[in-house]
Amino acid sequence: MESNLLNEFLDNPLVLPKSKLEAFLAPYLGLRPASQVTIPAELPKGVEMGQRIDEEVKPHLMKLQSVTDMQARALGVQVLKKMLEQQFEAIVEGSDAYKAYYRWAEELGLRNNQIKVRPTVHELYLFKEKGTGGRIRKLMNNREKIRRKTQRRPGADVDPIRFAYPEEYDEKWLLRNGEVLGYPDCCVKSYARDRVNSVNVETRAARQLIDTLKETEVDTHVYFTGFFFPCSPQCENALSKGHLWADAFSELDPRLSGLYERVLLMNTELVLRQPELISKYMSQFKKGN
Ligand SMILES: [Zn+2]
Repeated sequence: MESNLLNEFLDNPLVLPKSKLEAFLAPYLGLRPASQVTIPAELPKGVEMGQRIDEEVKPHLMKLQSVTDMQARALGVQVLKKMLEQQFEAIVEGSDAYKAYYRWAEELGLRNNQIKVRPTVHELYLFKEKGTGGRIRKLMNNREKIRRKTQRRPGADVDPIRFAYPEEYDEKWLLRNGEVLGYPDCCVKSYARDRVNSVNVETRAARQLIDTLKETEVDTHVYFTGFFFPCSPQCENALSKGHLWADAFSELDPRLSGLYERVLLMNTELVLRQPELISKYMSQFKKGN
């Protein structure tokens, strides 16, 4: 990469350091087939963007809740959905950060695929090879099928999370998804097995880390990318990926070493905090709205 371009990229405050390494440079350097960025949550000020959208549609949501006629209500839901999409366009897609992510994907020669998961939650996949795009499209189509099937026939044991994200309980889908994102097989297999057996992976990973820390030091390279849960804090495969990434980054530019060290620490802390974050997320379902 030209050093001017790299300097401009590294100096750009509109792309988060974590995204620079994990989402852009990792696929750029061929360290993983694809990366995934959740929009707007993982953009700078993404949480605020989400809150602004909520504020904008809140009055309409309140009005909708007072509508008792079923048909009028169904229509109201459609209107609300449209409104959310329009707010997403204005607030998220209109933001400098969003534009910066697209600009830098192009500058680095990365392809992209944006998937609308919900009206205000999108997933942005970045990748180099055309074939990876095909694999992602197939994965997304399969996810749609799994979701539709679950919504039609949820079954008795389906809790809100399983209803909203049924693909997280589909072993085959998880294995393919892990492959596309460049996770080690052993970790993906243990993640999938746990999910299918209703073991909370986030809690398992946090407990493993705490238990290991009591005995010995943990090499943070095992948490080489965010929202990835290794089969163990001492997984050889995850560790060697982390070191491979670290070497490739510092070879590209020595400044990236320190940056990646900080990202690894953030990822490690996130694994420790994940169970707490999830229970906060779950509590919104328990309010009965
Ligand atoms: Zn592993």
